[in-house]
Amino acid sequence: MAAKLLTGKEVAQKMDQDIQAEVQALKGKGVNPALKIMIVGDAPDSLAYANSAKKMAEKNGIACDIEQLPGTTSQDEFVKVLKARNADKAIHGIIVMRPFPKQISEEVVKHILAPEKDIDCFNPVNAGKVMAGDKTGFPPATPQAVMEMLRFYDIPMSGMEAVVIGRSMVVGKPQAMLLLGENATVTVCHSKTKDLPGVCRRADILVAAIGKARMITPNYIKPGATVMDVGINVENDKLFGDVDTEPAKEVAGAITPVPGGVGTVTTRVLLMHVVKAAKLQNP
Ligand code: NAP
Repeated sequence: MAAKLLTGKEVAQKMDQDIQAEVQALKGKGVNPALKIMIVGDAPDSLAYANSAKKMAEKNGIACDIEQLPGTTSQDEFVKVLKARNADKAIHGIIVMRPFPKQISEEVVKHILAPEKDIDCFNPVNAGKVMAGDKTGFPPATPQAVMEMLRFYDIPMSGMEAVVIGRSMVVGKPQAMLLLGENATVTVCHSKTKDLPGVCRRADILVAAIGKARMITPNYIKPGATVMDVGINVENDKLFGDVDTEPAKEVAGAITPVPGGVGTVTTRVLLMHVVKAAKLQNP
């Protein structure tokens, strides 16, 4: 039997409703949730991402300002501006677009962004909160989007075997911690894992965050498993996940498509985090 398709659109629509209701409640209390997206330079990818996030924020009633600084901005100047935005009570969430021009170090800036405004887990304080299971923090958007999808589609997590392929700080590691927080039994795989298909076949929930188009074939999938495909790979202008979706559908019980899966939900997670930050800053 073909797997159930876990599409991002329905999840995103439900999240939009929740976000809009929370935004209305905040506005009723005189709080106007606001997001600041900071870009140094003019990288087209960063600008495109920022513009699309701004459009979605505004659609949901969240104010969003893109602050673009010249590519020649020094690290000291950038730190000064960022500190001023940290201190601005009218801004609740801040996204700092990367990569930076070479004169600005991520290692320095990530510690400057105020953790309570760091809605996409750039400051290590938020990574620590994900580890600690501290719900006042902000996990990175992508692994949180996977959790939103699993919850929306009522996929049982407690006591289940979850296998995450990938151990990056933006996806794999926080994903493992978030699944552990839901009482899954979690295994994290990477490029040195022996018998990767065998380990993956243990999974009731398999999360692929590798960056290799169509690498996960039916041989990696336990019959009936839920497969969450985080991969975004572009080949000849076409988008592919890390899972070979069509054959995988014949084995999996449920599967996310690419495009139209996890990626559809990630920006909503950021907006949800702006709302959460605004609430925490205005108890
Ligand atoms: P990354 O930093 O390159 O990490 C990739 C991970 O996959 C590493 O841990 C690597 O292992 C592992 N890996 C690579 N080849 C492997 C192999 N043959 N077998 C087993 N493991 C292997 O990538 P990332 O930033 O985590 O992103 C992962 C994917 O998600 C990419 O396709 C990216 O575009 C996508 N992504 C999607 C979203 C979204 O919104 N949907 C957001 C962010 C990223 P080692 O640690 O041993 O090198």
